[in-house]
Amino acid sequence: MTGPILQVALPSPLRRLFDYRAPRGVGAADLHIGQRVRVPFGKRAMVGLIAAISDHSEVPDNRLKPAEALLDATPVLPDSLWRLCQWTARYYQHGLGDTLSVALPVLLRQGEPALARQDQLWQLLPGAYPEHPAIARAPKQKQAVQVLAQHPHGLSHALISQWGLSRDTLSTLESKGLVQRIEQSPHHIAEPLPLLREAHLTANAEQRAALDAILNAEGFHTWLLEGVTGSGKTEVYLQAIERCLLNGHQALVLIPEIGLTPQTLNRFQQRFSAPVVILHSGLNDRERLDAWIAARDGEAAIIIGTRSAIFTPLARPGLIIVDEEHDLSYKQQDGLRYNARDLAVYRGHLEQVPVILGSATPSLESLHNVQQGRYQHLRLTIRAGNAKAPSFQCLDIRSRPLEGGLSRPLTDLVSQHLERGNQVLVFINRRGFAPTLMCHDCGWIAECRRCDARMTVHQSPPHLHCHHCNSQRPLDRCCPKCQSEDLRPLGAGTERTEEFLKERFADTTVLRIDRESMSRKRAMQEMMEIIHSAQPCILVGTQMLAKGHHFPNVTLVAILDADGGLFSADFRGPERMAQMITQVAGRAGRAEKPGQVIIQTHMAEHPLLIELTERGYPAIAERELAERAIAQLPPYRFMALLRAEANHARAAEDFLEAALEQAEALVAQHQLADIDLLGPVPSPMERRAGRHRAQLLLQAAQRSALHQLVHMLLPALEQHPLARKVRWSIDIDPLDMF
Ligand code: ADP
Ligand code: ZN
Ligand code: ZN
Repeated sequence: MTGPILQVALPSPLRRLFDYRAPRGVGAADLHIGQRVRVPFGKRAMVGLIAAISDHSEVPDNRLKPAEALLDATPVLPDSLWRLCQWTARYYQHGLGDTLSVALPVLLRQGEPALARQDQLWQLLPGAYPEHPAIARAPKQKQAVQVLAQHPHGLSHALISQWGLSRDTLSTLESKGLVQRIEQSPHHIAEPLPLLREAHLTANAEQRAALDAILNAEGFHTWLLEGVTGSGKTEVYLQAIERCLLNGHQALVLIPEIGLTPQTLNRFQQRFSAPVVILHSGLNDRERLDAWIAARDGEAAIIIGTRSAIFTPLARPGLIIVDEEHDLSYKQQDGLRYNARDLAVYRGHLEQVPVILGSATPSLESLHNVQQGRYQHLRLTIRAGNAKAPSFQCLDIRSRPLEGGLSRPLTDLVSQHLERGNQVLVFINRRGFAPTLMCHDCGWIAECRRCDARMTVHQSPPHLHCHHCNSQRPLDRCCPKCQSEDLRPLGAGTERTEEFLKERFADTTVLRIDRESMSRKRAMQEMMEIIHSAQPCILVGTQMLAKGHHFPNVTLVAILDADGGLFSADFRGPERMAQMITQVAGRAGRAEKPGQVIIQTHMAEHPLLIELTERGYPAIAERELAERAIAQLPPYRFMALLRAEANHARAAEDFLEAALEQAEALVAQHQLADIDLLGPVPSPMERRAGRHRAQLLLQAAQRSALHQLVHMLLPALEQHPLARKVRWSIDIDPLDMF
C-alpha cells in the first residue's frame, strides 16, 4: 500500500494515536500536521487532528481505513498552541486527542469551519438617494435608503431591524441595484480609535517599581505580583496591558470565576477602546468559537477568560496575566487535570512573553518558585489611594449561644455598623440551611445513602441534599432509628444565617450570595448594583464573595467559623484557611472608611490564628513552607495521585495493589532514585456516589524521576485486566487529595 498514513489524535481516553489512510483524492502535498480530519471510528464518525504523517503503519493493510474528509486547508491551531497541547498531554500524562478536545471549542470538535463568521452589512450604492424614482411608491424602501445614507460604512442586519426594516425590503433594494451586501468580521473597527478611553491612574511608588520591572524586561519572565487586597494589582495589570497593546500585541488575562467577570470586564472596557473578548461558561458554542477565532486572527486585543482560556490561540501574544493565581479553580478536577496557572507559565516560555501571576495570598508553590529564583517577586504592601488595612480580631465563641451562626457580641457589632450607614459582609463557608439533620432523642444523623457524607438541610424548597453526589430526598418526618419526631437542623449554613439576619434586622436588605442564589442569570449583576448603591445592607455568602470583588462600602467583615482549616486532614488546610480569611477580610474598608474583621473561633489561642491576625499572610506562608520542607511535602517533593473507584469494595484496591507492584518493579528495574509509593489506601471519602474509592500516592524528590515512572506505569496499567473493572485516573500535582 502506498500513500501517506495519518496518525490521528482522537478524543478517546486511550493514550495513543490512530492510523488512517489519507481521504480519497487528497494528496500528500495537501496534508499537514494540525489539520482536522473526519474519520470512521467504530460505528461512528469522529473529528480528530493529524498528529503525525508517516509512510508505514503497524495496522495490517486490509484493516487500515481511509479518513472520510480533510476539514481544514491549513492547521487549525497555530504552531505554539499545538506545542502547548503536546506538552500538556505529556506533562499530565493524558491522551493527546483528549487534550486537544479540551483545548478546542466545541464547534471545531464537531467539524465546523474554523473561519470567522462574517457579519453581513448593507451599504448604499452610488446613485441611490431617497427620492430615487424606483422607490417613489415604496415607503419602507425609501426609509431604508434614508437610514443607510446616514451610515456610509454600512449597517448590519441586526441594527437595520431596529428601524423595523426587514430583510425582504433590503433584498428588493438590492435587486433594484440601489444597495449591496458587504461582508465584514464582527470585530472589525471602521476607524482606528485612541487606545485609552480614560487616562490611567498615576501609579504609586510600589506600583511604579513593579511596572518598571515588568516593562523594562524583554522576553519571557514570570513575575509573582504579591499585593495586599486593594493594593492596586489590577491597575498594574492595566498599565502593563496598555504597553502590550501599544506594541501591537495581545494580552491574555485569566481570572478564577465567572462571578468575577462583569466587574473585571467593566474595568477593562472602561479603560481600553480596543476590542475585548471574554471566554466564559455562559457563552453559547457559536459565541465561544467567534471569540476564539477573533483571538487567533488577532482581531481581539484583550482576551479575558477562566481556566480553559489558557488554550486560546493568539496571533500576536504579548502578555499573560493570571489573577488570583492561588485560586483552586485553575486546576481542573476531572478528565485532563491541568493547572491553568502552571500552563500559563509554560506558555509564556513557549511564546517568549512575560507572565504576571497576581495574588494577595500567593500559593506556597509560587512562593517557593520565587525562592528558587524561577519567578521574580514584586510586592505591593500598602493599599492604593486612601484605603487603610483592616483591623483583625478573634472572637472566642466557646460556650456562647449562636443564633444563625452569630454570637451575641457579633450581632451587636453588625447592628453598630449598620447604624453608621455602612454595609456588612458575613462569611460562612456552608451552603444550605444547616449542615446536618439530627435526631434530638437518639443522635441519629441524616446521611447520604451513596456517600460517606452527611446530607445538608435546605429550606426553599425543604429537602436534604448531598453536595458530593447531588442526590436529594425529602426531609425525614421522624427518626428512622427511634421514631422520634424531634429532628433538628444542626449548625448554620448561608440560608439559616440569612433567615436569622432578616428577622433580626427587618428594615435592612439582606443579600445571600452562594451557588444557589447566583444560579440565575444576571443575579450577580443585580446584587452588585445594590451593593454599589451604598445603602446599608448585609451580604451573607460563601467564598463566592471572597474573590476579587470590590465592595467600597463594607466596613465589617465577619467570618462565622474559621476552625475547619485548623484541624483539616489535608496538609494544605492551613494554607487554604489563611488564604480564605485574608481574601474575605480584604473586602473590608477598601475605600475611605476603615474596615474591621471579626473571626469567630473556638480556638482563639491557636498559634496559626494569632500569627495570621498579628502578622498576616506572609508570616503564615513562611511558617508553612518551613513545615513542608521538614515534612518533605510539596512544593519540596513532587506528587502524582493514582485514583481508582469501583462498584465493588475490593476492586479499586486490587487494581491499585497491582499498580503498586508494577511501580515497584519499574523503580527497581530503572533504578529510579528517591521515590515513595504510599498506599493503596481508601480515599478520605471512601464511598462517593455509590462507588468505593481508593488511591495510591507516588512521591519523588525529582520531578523527572516521577515523570519517568508514571510514563512507564500507565501503558502497563491500561493493559491490565483489572483496569476494565475500575474507573481510574492519574492526577499530576494534585491539589485535592479527596
Ligand atoms: P487589587 O486588585 O490589588 O485588590 P485594585 O486594583 O482593585 O486592587 O485597586 C483597589 C482600589 O484602589 C481601586 O478602586 C483602584 O481604582 C484604586 N487604585 C489603584 N491604584 C491606584 C492609584 N495609583 N491611585 C489611586 N487609586 C488607585
Ligand atoms: Zn432518633
Ligand atoms: Zn452523596
